[in-house]
This record gives sequence, C-alpha cells and structure tokens, in this order.
Amino acid sequence: MVITEPARQTPLYGEFDVVVLGGGPAGLLAAASAARNGARVLLAERYGFLGGMGTAAGVSNFCGLHANVRGDIRQVVHGMTDELLDRMRAMDGLNHPHLILGKIHAQAYDISAFKCAADDMVQASGAQVLFHALATGLSRGEDGRANALFLETKSGRCAVRARIFIDCSGDAEIARWAGLPLEKGDERGRMLYPTLMFKVGNVDGARAQEAWKTIPQLMDQAAASGEFTFPRRGAIVRPQKHDYEWRVNVTQLANADGSAADGTDADSLSAGELEGRRQIVQYLAFLRAKVPGFEQAYVLDIAPQLGIRETRRLVGAAVLSKDDVLGCADFEDSIGVNGWPLEMHTAGDVQWLWPPIPQSRGYNQLPFRMLVPRPGPDVADNVLVAGRCASMTHEGQSAARVSGSCFVMGEAAGTAAAMALRAGVAPADISISALQAQLRQQGAFLGGQD
Ligand SMILES: Cc1cc2nc3c(=O)[nH]c(=O)nc-3n(C[C@H](O)[C@H](O)[C@H](O)COP(=O)(O)OP(=O)(O)OC[C@H]3O[C@@H](n4cnc5c(N)ncnc54)[C@H](O)[C@@H]3O)c2cc1C
Repeated sequence: MVITEPARQTPLYGEFDVVVLGGGPAGLLAAASAARNGARVLLAERYGFLGGMGTAAGVSNFCGLHANVRGDIRQVVHGMTDELLDRMRAMDGLNHPHLILGKIHAQAYDISAFKCAADDMVQASGAQVLFHALATGLSRGEDGRANALFLETKSGRCAVRARIFIDCSGDAEIARWAGLPLEKGDERGRMLYPTLMFKVGNVDGARAQEAWKTIPQLMDQAAASGEFTFPRRGAIVRPQKHDYEWRVNVTQLANADGSAADGTDADSLSAGELEGRRQIVQYLAFLRAKVPGFEQAYVLDIAPQLGIRETRRLVGAAVLSKDDVLGCADFEDSIGVNGWPLEMHTAGDVQWLWPPIPQSRGYNQLPFRMLVPRPGPDVADNVLVAGRCASMTHEGQSAARVSGSCFVMGEAAGTAAAMALRAGVAPADISISALQAQLRQQGAFLGGQD
C-alpha cells in the first residue's frame, strides 16, 4: 500500500562546486580539503555536530592513525589529520596513544573536543556547513550525472546543486540514489554487528588499574556461573583521559533471526537502540558487582545513536580486499595508508587478523580508485564515495573503516574534487601524480618509498 504525494516545487538552497554529504571523519576532511583547494563547498549533516560515528556513536577513540612498521609503532596518517589532532590537543582533548593487543596504538579522545576541533577546521577552510539537514534523494540528468541533492531541514525541504558530490554518509546514500553498484555485508549479506557505546563515571581508577586486562576473564567466570549473560566476548573497556571515566564497547545488536542489526532499516535500528540500552543496564550491574574499582560506577553517557560499523559499500574502480590488508598491498594510485588489522565483529565475538607483525611494514596503501565509480555508460561520474562506504570487500572494510583511513579517504576525495573542477574533467580522469603531489604538499604520507 502506498500513498501518492502531490508533486511539488522545491526551493533551491544554493549552488556549489562541491556538496559533501555527511560530516563524519571522511566528510569533514573532504569538505575542508575541497574548500582549501579553492572549491565552494557545502557540507550537509543530519545532526547538529560533526564527527559521525566518532561523536554520534560515542566512539571516542581513534584507530588507524598508526601502524606497526617492522616492530616500530608509528603514526602513518598525517596531512590535514595532523591539524585536527593539534586542535584537539590544544583543548587537552586527546590522550597519548595506548597499546592495543600488544601490537598497535590507538588514541582516545574527548568527544566534545572532536566536535569543536572539527567545527573549527571546517569553518577555517571556508566550507559552509548545513546542520540538521537530512538528505532524502538525488536528481540526475539524462547523462546519469548527479545534479541536485534533496535535503529535509527545519526550514522545510530544499535542494542543493553541485558540480561534484562526495558521499561520506557511511551508508552510501548518494551512491544508491545515483544507481551506482553497491554491496552490503559478505557474500551472504552478513554485516559487522553494531554496538551501542556508553561511558561509566565515578570509577576508582587507583583500584581499577589495568582492568581492561582482567575484565574478559571476569566476564567468562560470571557467564560460567550463570550470574550474567553477555551479548559478546571481546569487551573493550578502557579509561578516557581521566581514570574515573571509562568507555565501554561491549553491547552487540542483532535482529530476531540473529543477523546483525541493520543501520539502513528503520525497524531494526529502533529495536537495536532499545536492546542496546537494556544490555547497558545489565553490563553496569556486572561491572559494579565484579570489577574492583567499579563498585560506585554509574552510566555517565549513552551515545546518541547506535554505532553502525557497516552497511552499503560502493563497488568501485578498485575494491580493497582482505588480502590487500594482510599482504600490505601497494597501489600506484595511493592516497595514503591503512595500518589497522581486520577487526571482525561477528556473532558473539570480535576476531582480529593481522598482517605479519613485526616481519612486515604493517600497512597497506589505499588506492584512489576505491573512491571512484566504475566507468560505464550513464554512470554518475561526478560522484565520489569516501569513508566506511567506499569500495572495499566486507573483510577489507573491517580494517579500513576506522577513523584513520576515513580521514585519508576524505582528504583525498576533497582534494581530487577541487582538482577535477579546475581541470574541467571527471574526478576519475584527474592526474594521479598531481593528486599525489598535492596530498604530499598537504603533509600526507602515501606509503611506499616516502
Ligand atoms: C561501535 C563502534 C565502535 C568503533 N570503534 C572505533 C574505534 O575505536 N576507533 C576508530 O577509529 N573507529 C572506530 N569505529 C569506526 C569508525 O568510527 C567509523 O567507521 C567512522 O566514523 C566512519 O567514518 P565515515 O565518515 O565514513 O562515516 P560516519 O562516521 O558514519 O559518518 C557519516 C555521517 O553522515 C551523516 N549522514 C548519514 N546519512 C545522512 C543523510 N541521509 N543525511 C545527512 N547526513 C547523513 C551521519 O549523521 C554521519 O555524521 C567504530 C565504529 C562503531 C560503530
């Protein structure tokens, strides 16, 4: 059953060189880099702040900034990401890196600092931001090219025109409306499971000490005795900057049939939010009862939305695979690198697969072509896709979906869009060596011989 809506005339909000959809790690750098490279840019975001899953889903921890290069753990994502990190540091909102599983570094942060630093960076670039703007559709010309994006705002529905659109929605929204080929999950449609993140406060840090090392064992004991049940193993429970505040990454949200809750399905999302909060209440009871230092802990914060790791992905001109990540692959059109391993959030567990450490250089290059649609007749060749919905296999995405790689992809997409406009060509046809030279000039590390 459907309801036919009356046809309507939609006001044009503005015309831009580049419209970026989504202000997550990929989108905020795409907007800032396109603007700095001379384009007139609009960044449209459905929430009232930037950061994407990094803020809206309570992630509060950057992964993928570092790689284990033959035993030496070092930062490998630079470029404009360094400026964002500097802004966060200046607000005292960035922790020192910490060791993960004895192999690599991650870096926790204060979510408010990320929001403010991202605002600052995007505004300083000259890009315009439209918050509280939910994109709902796209119009395409007869040649297949995208020409206007429709947004629902508190001022009503409007359209924005652009010469190039960059899809950083995480869910490949523009790519879907543009009819580009997409995949969802693995060959059987299985996606990484979502998590509703939360923080606990009032932890006695002196007593909790390195509780992240003992919590998995305490969970196993509590499950074996039948006192508590847990949605998954592989809990990540870590202190933030101050040891009275810890983030908890432990819930896992499934549909009734056991499949991963689907971030593109309204009913699945709703059920996931409700179940996520139920799991949080249960897990707090476990922490208070069983973990020294957590006796008086309380739920300080529940993320505004369910944390979605994976939905639709572009099938683009190149597809980053598991073998690329594990084999530390090189690409001639490298735009930067990924040093994060495969991190598969499977039913009831988290599985890690690493490139050989410390024998290998510990990172793969990321090809520009993973942002670019496959060429063909009537393809929307003025669309780029960056971030967790770029062109990767299900396994490849479990690695390169993290913030570090999304920053890399965003900066490259924005820079490439501005260069394509200057050259009067489609983004796929820009000079790769010129793009790489520009990214290096912006401070990026592209791997290989650098
Ligand atoms: C629970 C969880 C834990 C994680 N832990 C870590 C971690 O510890 N470290 C790490 O580095 N990474 C982690 N990640 C992964 C990482 O946070 C994301 O993969 C990353 O944020 C993806 O960036 P993105 O810019 O591609 O997309 P997103 O961060 O998803 O941003 C997409 C943006 O687009 C907006 N948007 C989407 N659709 C629309 C629309 N129709 N209209 C308007 N706006 C729209 C969204 O509001 C959002 O702001 C985790 C992810 C989850 C879910």
